[in-house]
Amino acid sequence: MSSAKLFPIRTCIACKRKAPSRELVRVRSGLLADPPQPTMGRGASFCSSPECWSRALNPKLLSYVFRRPVTPPQVALIQHYLENSSR
Ligand SMILES: [Zn+2]
Repeated sequence: MSSAKLFPIRTCIACKRKAPSRELVRVRSGLLADPPQPTMGRGASFCSSPECWSRALNPKLLSYVFRRPVTPPQVALIQHYLENSSR
């Protein structure tokens, strides 16, 4: 059995690199719901490198990926969530 099959391939929304999901950071649009539902909604994946991180956490790009308006305060909320859930 190949271990690669355990992890679906996803595409980084910043650099378009394809990688197993475990190598990418993933957020969902449900995080912006009230109350937040981090496991619901459309997902966005991106590399954990600082470069892709900063490019991905962009209101316009996230609005496109989530197919809903994302405001700068909501981007800050996502960033806060990621920083607290990565440990
Ligand atoms: Zn990337």
